[in-house]
Amino acid sequence: MGVERAERLTKLPPYLFVEIDRAKHRLEEAGKDVIDLGVGDPDLPTPAHICDRLKATLDDPTNHRYSFTEGLLELRQAIARWYDRRFGVSLDPQTEVLPLLGSKEGIAHLPLAIANPGDVVLVPDPCYPPYRSGAILAGADVVSMPLLEESGFFPDLGGLSQKAVRRAKLMFLNYPNNPTAAVATVKQLQEAVDLAKEYGFPIAHDAAYSEISFDGFQPISFLQLPEAKSVGIEFHSLSKTYNMTGWRIGWACGNAQLIAALGQLKTNLDSGLFQPIQWAGIAALEGDQGALQQTVATYQARRELLVDALAKAGWQITKPKATFYVWARVPTTERSMEFAARLLEQSHVVVTPGVGFGPSGEGYVRFSLTVPTERLQEAIDRLTKIF
Ligand SMILES: *Cc1c(COP(=O)(O)O)cnc(C)c1O
Repeated sequence: MGVERAERLTKLPPYLFVEIDRAKHRLEEAGKDVIDLGVGDPDLPTPAHICDRLKATLDDPTNHRYSFTEGLLELRQAIARWYDRRFGVSLDPQTEVLPLLGSKEGIAHLPLAIANPGDVVLVPDPCYPPYRSGAILAGADVVSMPLLEESGFFPDLGGLSQKAVRRAKLMFLNYPNNPTAAVATVKQLQEAVDLAKEYGFPIAHDAAYSEISFDGFQPISFLQLPEAKSVGIEFHSLSKTYNMTGWRIGWACGNAQLIAALGQLKTNLDSGLFQPIQWAGIAALEGDQGALQQTVATYQARRELLVDALAKAGWQITKPKATFYVWARVPTTERSMEFAARLLEQSHVVVTPGVGFGPSGEGYVRFSLTVPTERLQEAIDRLTKIF
């Protein structure tokens, strides 16, 4: 039987890392020691008190049944309390917080809940891929907003096409940013809120990296802006903050109408998060934050190692204020894909070519700091031998 894929799948952007993945597997099969700085997945473990809460709630049969899409009220209350403590933002746990099976799930589903075929979804370029694919799967037209270094990797909102902005049904933003590691100022985010209000489209801000920041810098929440809640929601996740990528727990919060729309869609797609994971999530938000401080200190030390070494080797590179990524200009005239392929062949180190995140990522590569420090040092030794 020949299976024909739905048109919406054929419209998704091609997976650009096929060749690099293939080369990586070929090297590994040949017994080479490959160091992967491509994937953004923490190597550090989930803090023990969070795992303990999962274990303690696992044997209670009341946690074995379907939970609801809206999740335990206790979890939504814990999220609201955390937003208040961390950002001074007040949220109604009944109407303004929605747990997600990882924030990627909510991000990819949001366009399906609020955009019709032919509507425009404004997406940063380069970006975390689900913004684009979620919009495409919903049949929306993606309009890219280039993130350029000279503008601090924030979109030129005044330069967006009027036609596109008028048709916009959603704008995605993400600070601290993946893949550029840029952070946004209040003024920049305020411009986005003003534009959204003027044209009547919602904003979804992804704050997955708000807790991974360095040198005392404290990223803000989009919802701290005075009128943000009237135009938008924020996506958040325990994945990066507490090294919980495999657990699948995140949330959306903010504008009640957007939360209700996403919730309505989700009641038709899933039946909520496994309750022990929700209890563990509460432990993460309300428990001791010492492990987070250590996690951040570890990334900061790795950032110093990598950025100092590459700068010394002549790379044009700055120290990111947040995220566990380093976004660096390709130090040769090669395109990012060629450069990454050559680096893999010659040093057996994987980095992500910037173009894989969108055309405006061309000319850059992304390093992830999520490998043990001695492995990172080994990768640096190999890289600085070549450059
Ligand atoms: C890792 C990441 C997330 C979090 O994804 P989860 O599905 O919650 O694990 C969200 N946004 C960005 C930009 C990310 O890099």
